[in-house]
Amino acid sequence: MLIGVGRCPHCSIASPNLLRVWSDGWGSHGDGWATYRCNTCDSIVSILLSWKQGQREMSAIQLWPDAKEAHEDIPEPARTYLQQAYETLHAPDAAAVMAGSAVDAMLKFKGLEKGSLYARIDQALKENILTQGMADWAHSVRLGSNRPRHADNEAPHVSTDEAEQSVEFAEALGSFLFVLTAKINRGIEAAAKASA
Ligand SMILES: [Zn+2]
Repeated sequence: MLIGVGRCPHCSIASPNLLRVWSDGWGSHGDGWATYRCNTCDSIVSILLSWKQGQREMSAIQLWPDAKEAHEDIPEPARTYLQQAYETLHAPDAAAVMAGSAVDAMLKFKGLEKGSLYARIDQALKENILTQGMADWAHSVRLGSNRPRHADNEAPHVSTDEAEQSVEFAEALGSFLFVLTAKINRGIEAAAKASA
């Protein structure tokens, strides 16, 4: 029994059904690497395991790739929306809606509160909060697609690719607006302290 893997790092399904495809044949106890295939998305995860003699369970110490976590420099509620977008990638409609909410919350945090999400994106470009490239990207991805939200009759769903692109954009925008800025500010502070 393998314990300690909350979600598949590829498709984010909770309590993934993982089938072992390889292990490095470490001895009767100790730590060792093994690879598993997720039964939901067929992707491979490498796991560093700890196993003690007499125990039925092997615990995962480290995963590669690792499960995604929304960066702590992203303000709430955007951070929680982004985290939920990561965790619902196996359910594309939900992930696209959450990615849209994350972007919306990020722009509201920057003081852009009027109108729709797309009006906010245009305003952010005007105020030089976004670059032209970020704004073009935002308009080209289906952020918080209206199709699942309003149960569109013709095309009610977002594809997996579309959801992944939305989540990727929300993540990039969070890095651009908050993570990078916080890193730069910490760098400036550290440099000032070092030269004081
Ligand atoms: Zn998976």
